[in-house]
Amino acid sequence: PNDDKVALVTGANKGIGRAIAEGLAARGMTVLLGARDPDLGEKAAADLRDAGHDARFVWLDVTDDASVRAAAGTVAAAPGRLDVLVNNAGISGGPNDPPSQADLDRVRRVFDTNLFGVMRVTSALLPLLRRSPAARIVNVSSGTGSLTHMTDPGHYFWDLGAAAAYPQSKAALNMLTVQYAKQLRGTGILVNAVAPGACATDFVTEHIRAGRTITRTAEQGAAIAIAMATLPDGGPTGGFFDDDGPVPW
Ligand code: NDP
Repeated sequence: PNDDKVALVTGANKGIGRAIAEGLAARGMTVLLGARDPDLGEKAAADLRDAGHDARFVWLDVTDDASVRAAAGTVAAAPGRLDVLVNNAGISGGPNDPPSQADLDRVRRVFDTNLFGVMRVTSALLPLLRRSPAARIVNVSSGTGSLTHMTDPGHYFWDLGAAAAYPQSKAALNMLTVQYAKQLRGTGILVNAVAPGACATDFVTEHIRAGRTITRTAEQGAAIAIAMATLPDGGPTGGFFDDDGPVPW
């Protein structure tokens, strides 16, 4: 049923994004792998093609207006349709200083990728998505974006240090998800945020170096994004989900 569907995944050259791209390709979709580094993006797309999938690289730096515009133009020209957009590209911002010691330029960079990048890409691709009979938008957020978990002394996030940028960017992304879902209510486009859970990708290298054990794979983290990208008509919109179901905001 997915054979004629086209999906675009941002930050698809490695990690969870790559696993999402593989998962959607394995379900029969044509997958456009967005990557800011052409060599890495071409290589990832070639790997998927070698595995028998329909996959193409699209140059896409989510912080760069010209790149996002060019990517939207490329997709509009060929394949000329878009059914699934997965906003996966994200950065941690490196050492997470507490708010009072934060370098605002670093905070801005985190927001530029994790929040404004999603707005840039989603808004640029919305005209194509609107033409799909059943478009899905998935924003890869984080459990650390949950205000409920962060403020719950019984949750293990309680012990995470106070940080200046990343959790805020994902909490804001959750709200953005709600706002797109409201804007698009009644169009058939379903918009949801997902929490992949801590996965052993390059993203968590610092944590692993600091002695934390992370065994969850990128493929496991990708599963909830794939599920929300392949929701049936009438499925949820404006929600936040992980493997166990809805995540409290
Ligand atoms: P990785 O660091 O392995 O991959 C991140 C991807 O995003 C890379 O492809 C990277 O490209 C890309 N990217 C970063 N900035 C840009 C940009 N400006 N334009 C385009 N692409 C960009 O991380 P993960 O796979 O682990 O993370 C993917 C998503 O999952 C992120 O949104 C992250 O916040 C979220 N997440 C991850 C968790 C984890 O434990 N791993 C837990 C919760 C959420 P490049 O290779 O060029 O750097």
